[in-house]
Amino acid sequence: MFQDITTLLLNPKAFRNVVELFVNRYIDKGITVVAGVEARGFIFAAPIALAIGAKFIPLRKPRKLPGEVISEKYDLEYGTDCLEMHVGAVQPEDRALVVDDLIATGGTLCAAMNLLERAGAEVVECACVIELPELKGRERLNGKPLHILVESR
Ligand code: IMP
Repeated sequence: MFQDITTLLLNPKAFRNVVELFVNRYIDKGITVVAGVEARGFIFAAPIALAIGAKFIPLRKPRKLPGEVISEKYDLEYGTDCLEMHVGAVQPEDRALVVDDLIATGGTLCAAMNLLERAGAEVVECACVIELPELKGRERLNGKPLHILVESR
């Protein structure tokens, strides 16, 4: 069953509350970069980045970013996919938060973290609105903390 966050976006109060829950958690954590995963991760990552005074970095599907990129492939149920990040978007001293709407198997967040770590950034935490705990995506995050707002079973 597809978990659809677009209904949340129709309610400005609920959308604001969700962003504020994340902002309150990360405002004083020294985070310098918020990386959002295409496409629904952008919706939450950009307002969080603005509110905490951090850079926003889009992690995009192949051939969407205009500049030089580094790429990270990851497995899907059938086949593979890939995320890309602009070279030079993060610096080795950056402390990063990775944001997506939902974690299922964890492959997407794992690839996102790899991109940031390959560029030398420290990934402080991953944050999603929804977790599908039965798919055990957390176990693929190599012990990195994951903060979620709701579980869907
Ligand atoms: P994972 O890599 O298996 O953890 O899948 C997570 C990625 O797939 C995220 O980028 C989600 O946006 C997307 N995704 C998978 N299932 C759903 C769903 O039910 N609702 C919304 N997004 C989903």
